[in-house]
Amino acid sequence: MKRKILIIGGGFGGCASARMLCEDPKNAITIVEKNSFLGAGVRTQFYGGHPYTFGPRHFLTHNKKVFEYLNKIVPMRLCSDHQFITYVEKDNKFYNYPLHYNDINKMPDKKKIFQELKNRNLQKIKSAKNMEEYWLNSIGKTLYKKTIQNYNKKMWLVDNVKEIDTFNWSPKGATIKKGPRAAWDKAISAYPKKSNGYNDYFDKIDKRKINILLNCNLKVYDLNKKIFYINGKKKQFDFVISTIAPDFFFKKDFGELKFIGRDFHKIVFPVKEVFPKNVYFLYYANNEKFTRLVEYKKFTRHKSNTTLIGMEIPSMNGKHYPIPFKSEIRKSYKYLRKLPENFFSIGRAGTYRYEVDIDDCIEQAMELVKIINDDNYMNAFPQQKWWQYE
Ligand SMILES: Cc1cc2nc3c(=O)[nH]c(=O)nc-3n(C[C@H](O)[C@H](O)[C@H](O)COP(=O)(O)OP(=O)(O)OC[C@H]3O[C@@H](n4cnc5c(N)ncnc54)[C@H](O)[C@@H]3O)c2cc1C
Repeated sequence: MKRKILIIGGGFGGCASARMLCEDPKNAITIVEKNSFLGAGVRTQFYGGHPYTFGPRHFLTHNKKVFEYLNKIVPMRLCSDHQFITYVEKDNKFYNYPLHYNDINKMPDKKKIFQELKNRNLQKIKSAKNMEEYWLNSIGKTLYKKTIQNYNKKMWLVDNVKEIDTFNWSPKGATIKKGPRAAWDKAISAYPKKSNGYNDYFDKIDKRKINILLNCNLKVYDLNKKIFYINGKKKQFDFVISTIAPDFFFKKDFGELKFIGRDFHKIVFPVKEVFPKNVYFLYYANNEKFTRLVEYKKFTRHKSNTTLIGMEIPSMNGKHYPIPFKSEIRKSYKYLRKLPENFFSIGRAGTYRYEVDIDDCIEQAMELVKIINDDNYMNAFPQQKWWQYE
């Protein structure tokens, strides 16, 4: 008997699960995707001949196995020269993003900042109640105001950073980096070599083994029995892998899970390159409405006398970023706990975790394959239930 597996959502998480699970002939897989294409925001599109994605989709991982897996399907170019910088209007200067000590030496108010750093009590970070307290205790008032406060206000569309009451997801850490490079130094940093980016990962999926339903309308008929209406037809499954927000399955009984979206603008400039040589990203920590700019050429190596810059403006359009409020995370747990057996919720929206990136989607799919294909796996490694919440 085949295992009937429904995958909801054809983004990275859904496609990674499908690709890995279809290796076992016992699995009969259906992907349902509401859009007319697979890949969601990771799909490469073209503007004025320039390849781009919705946001950078820069591949960063600490897991060599994950990199090697992706590299076999989508040959990757290592881009360990990448740099991120941030513009601080108050100083009219660009610094590394995140900051490190060398940057402080270039600041007009460095004396005050070093004094604040000396006076900080790192122990207090552990008991911080909100993001403001966390950062004030990490880097002091002056640096907080210059680099963190406005960025987070616009990133999360809040009036006050105190509203953000979780912060362990922040990859920027509590310390200021030392040494010549910014954060993520130790991660494998890469981008697809081909101009169509990650698209082969979605387009070259084995359609003989995977039933892909695009523009699909999905409704729940009986969640516990894993019965759904798919384009109006009733279908039952043995396993479900969902990559969408879990409130969908319960008619938003505990309230709608909140997300921040993004408005994305593409701008072509009449020069070969705008950013300095190795700068891929530019963050803006001031009152401008956008959070970051990306020069796509730096990733894609596209040859042209013009250059494409992507601009991201936080908005309520789309479910791109789960909000790091305890109340929302608790709400997501309420939904996740109610999911029936053999129903797995993965990916960024599926786990309601902002920190889930492309590499995490692959890692989660790798884990899921073991769970679904090997009946003994879950019992042997109960601690590896990554989908469990506190
Ligand atoms: C602007 C931006 C920039 C990013 N940059 C990076 C980066 O540089 N590096 C990195 O590693 N990560 C980055 N990420 C994160 C990473 O791309 C995502 O975490 C990852 O792609 C999520 O994949 P997913 O499958 O979980 O979800 P998604 O990609 O959101 O896929 C979910 C799919 O489900 C479909 N769907 C939704 N509702 C339904 C429904 N009812 N029925 C059927 N289908 C449905 C959607 O159309 C979508 O295709 C970025 C994210 C954003 C938003």
